[in-house]
Amino acid sequence: MLNIKTYNFKDKKALIRVDFNIPMNDNLEIVDDIRIKATIPTINKVLSDGGSVILVSHLGRPKTKYDSRFSLSHLVGHLQKIFKKKILFSNSCVGERPKYLANKLCPGDILLLENVRFYKEELNGDECFAKDLASIADVYINDAFGTSHRSHASLTVVPHYFTDKMMGYNMKEEVTNADKILSSPKSDFTAILGGAKILDKIELIDGLIEKAQNIIVGGGMANTFYASKGCNVGNSLVEKEGFGFAIQFMKKAIKFNTKIFLPSDSYIVDRFHNEANKSISASNDIPKHWISVDIGPQSQNIFREIILKSKNILWNGPMGVYEMINFREGTKSIAESVATATNLGAFSLVGGGDSAAAIHILGYENNISYLSTGGGALLSYISKGYLPAIEALGK
Ligand code: AMP
Repeated sequence: MLNIKTYNFKDKKALIRVDFNIPMNDNLEIVDDIRIKATIPTINKVLSDGGSVILVSHLGRPKTKYDSRFSLSHLVGHLQKIFKKKILFSNSCVGERPKYLANKLCPGDILLLENVRFYKEELNGDECFAKDLASIADVYINDAFGTSHRSHASLTVVPHYFTDKMMGYNMKEEVTNADKILSSPKSDFTAILGGAKILDKIELIDGLIEKAQNIIVGGGMANTFYASKGCNVGNSLVEKEGFGFAIQFMKKAIKFNTKIFLPSDSYIVDRFHNEANKSISASNDIPKHWISVDIGPQSQNIFREIILKSKNILWNGPMGVYEMINFREGTKSIAESVATATNLGAFSLVGGGDSAAAIHILGYENNISYLSTGGGALLSYISKGYLPAIEALGK
């Protein structure tokens, strides 16, 4: 694999797979552009060498056809402000239009292609689609860590059509930091998992058991673990289809001598509303009709002690419905504990939109060792030890 730092992009057209899948509000205004900012060093390296840039990305989860809400054209203005130059836009990723625009590129130009997930061929890893997309550039860079656990055409097939291919600066930094966790002894490593659902994370977290000494589980996920054991969880969010996995996960943890920590107490509410009546309950015996929305004070203290004893910490997912201000305490407390552990010398890696947003809201950016742009990709890399899109770049 080539090294971006030493590669000379003079007169080359670089196809850069970026992850501009950023949160936008209903008025299509950008809420957070951390993923765009993360790619600036890579884009600037190509431009300053005298090359031109072709950006390919996805945005959201469109149903593999054009949907104006998910058009990357909404990002053109913002990119123009960042790079202080005109950004060319192609309303398709393959066919005549991108070829025509790519042909006209001069050193220093940036061309942005339309959302690559408007094409079913992207999701299917289609060879013809990938070949066409690859044909407009001389060199391929992957700087899209956040989506590198997916085997989509622009990530794992397009690179096969390039001799010159490499990781971008952001990708390298992400991998370097994730490797710090991967190379740490099991006894030092605590993983903190939260968020609503287990089902879409099964594949991503299973391998953590072998690597981590402690796995703290909070958020809606914890309810599914308790419910799978037959405990009362009231009207809390539960995924029945996740029961089998939760049971297997616990069994596997015993085999690998990994401790799983579920919350002992939870904040509960009588309706899913910020102003609802609130109380505290044992997390494994929530009264009928009540909903658990956050981890309770006792859990916060227990989790804090575990975190403070750890030397390597991975955190993905909020401990409660942190978007509602009254149910933010548990997530705040985890952020505070991770920040304190970091200040005491631990290495901490926080990934995933919600956890990163929580760190920002609470102002702890400077008290975390590394804030990743990836959620699923980060979990997948730590859990399995590889990412398909990085493998596709060769050795
Ligand atoms: P995920 O997309 O699975 O990482 O989940 C993130 C979401 O989990 C956030 O929007 C939180 O509001 C939500 N969440 C966390 N804890 C709970 C809970 N106890 N009940 C319902 N939703 C939760």
